Amino acid sequence: MTKSISCADAGADCSWSATAETEEELMSKVANHAKEDHKGMEVTPELVAKIKSVIKEI
Ligand SMILES: [Zn+2]
Repeated sequence: MTKSISCADAGADCSWSATAETEEELMSKVANHAKEDHKGMEVTPELVAKIKSVIKEI
């Protein structure tokens, strides 16, 4: 099962999306994206919970 996430699903005005085999790998891609493309965005526990709630399995 592949896991998929997009910024738009998390409520951000952003067209970025990613897929990964595991939730851990996906979250690390999200963290990198937040750091590089959403300058100054902090990946807080609340944000992680929100992201995990919108992860899709494809
Ligand atoms: Zn984004």
